[in-house]
Amino acid sequence: MSEAVGHTTERDARALNALLAKMPAVERVIASADAQPLIAQYGRTQVLDAIRATQDAWRDDAQAGVLSHVSQDSEPFALERVLAAAAQRLAERAQSRLRPVFNFTGTVLHTNLGRALLPEEAVKAVVQALTQPANLEFDLASGKRGDRDDLIDALICELTGAEAATVVNNNAAAVLLLLSALATRKEVVVSRGELVEIGGAFRIPDIMSRAGARLREIGTTNRTHLKDYEAAINARTALLMKVHCSNYAISGFTKSVELEELAPLARQHGLPVAVDLGSGTLVDLAQWGLPAEPTVRATVQAGADLVTFSGDKLLGGPQAGLIVGRKDLIAKIKKHPLKRALRVGKLTLAALEPVLRLYLAPEFLQARLTTLRLLTRPATQMHEAAQRAQPALQSALGETYAVSVEPMFSQIGSGALPVDVLPSSGLVVRHAGKGSSGRALLKLERALRNLPRPVIGRIADDALRLDLRCLEFADEAAFVAQLAELRL
Ligand SMILES: *Cc1c(COP(=O)(O)O)cnc(C)c1O
Repeated sequence: MSEAVGHTTERDARALNALLAKMPAVERVIASADAQPLIAQYGRTQVLDAIRATQDAWRDDAQAGVLSHVSQDSEPFALERVLAAAAQRLAERAQSRLRPVFNFTGTVLHTNLGRALLPEEAVKAVVQALTQPANLEFDLASGKRGDRDDLIDALICELTGAEAATVVNNNAAAVLLLLSALATRKEVVVSRGELVEIGGAFRIPDIMSRAGARLREIGTTNRTHLKDYEAAINARTALLMKVHCSNYAISGFTKSVELEELAPLARQHGLPVAVDLGSGTLVDLAQWGLPAEPTVRATVQAGADLVTFSGDKLLGGPQAGLIVGRKDLIAKIKKHPLKRALRVGKLTLAALEPVLRLYLAPEFLQARLTTLRLLTRPATQMHEAAQRAQPALQSALGETYAVSVEPMFSQIGSGALPVDVLPSSGLVVRHAGKGSSGRALLKLERALRNLPRPVIGRIADDALRLDLRCLEFADEAAFVAQLAELRL
């Protein structure tokens, strides 16, 4: 017996032992009629495990004196009770670990919440690829073995103006593969102002050494000139590389070399220029009032021999890394053994193709591409949604919290355009009761996270902020309905 129950009298201990002795045998529980539907659903092994785990937990609780209903109840371990608790355990275990959440962080392309949401066309294509055989690597014209890139490279080239294209698992893989295929045991020239860390341990210098390439840093953090590139070029140089600064901006006394200047220098020395563009925009976003980003097409036109970018950032598709550029270089990349290790599966290709196809009709893109639709929602829509949801949240939270509708700013996310913000609106919850506001907000944040479909907000300036940009009208009712289950 532990110290916590040291004061328990001998009579209590005897009573407890008598109760524990009444715990039904596992064999009897599993043989009972009520256990049969559970066995039919989960199989005998899992049901047995759940019954044992339930009983073990109860024994431990009883001995620690924390089984609250023991004293009032003559049958605390009744067979039906054991089964009900085991059933709950089984249901909890069967719930998928990957769960839908409400992204109210204000960051649309949130890396930790799965980045881009895909349009219906992509969902349909994935379901089909999952349930039916497909010509993934089978040339229907010749009846011979095909190349999975053939399914999609013409479309990528049409949208980017590049000669050739290939697709791998993500943009980090694209950069690793590019460097491995073209620069192993050679030097790659990169400006010190572009040696970025993207997060999740993707750092340009590290990826460079993993690929066996030698990084030749040039210039300074804030200023790099064309003559710096020129001075670094030697017989061991394989590649000049530019990296999009994605998640940071340098301002003030700065200078970087534009691709238009760099490409002629590379050509003069017979070297290719590679650009890691990061988010990979295929159309000019300024037409929808979003901050301008260099497009893949413009980058190819400006003289990049190779461009790498992500499929699930601004492009709005599935996780993927796209490499486009010169035919001879793409061919070399595709022949590298790492290509096989980093290639995409059929689900990715199935999802990517319909998303790319949406770009063929740019006038409908804003309505059809989920990411773009979310990024361009007018703040009035979020304001109205917040007004509709406010009474329900206020009544679920009670008087200790005050819920208001307020303007706020969303971010694009995924390292895209970190300095730019999009006007939005949402719900702001402040602590209105006694005691620590910080603790109350953390408690609320946790309670929202524990809802059946977890609600992910953000605490800032002594308030919990729920940006409703990513709450589309069809989901509003589900959000409000589950507030009844909020346990503070
Ligand atoms: C996001 C990003 C990456 C990594 O892309 P993933 O698709 O997440 O692997 C690499 N380089 C740049 C410049 C990026 O912005």
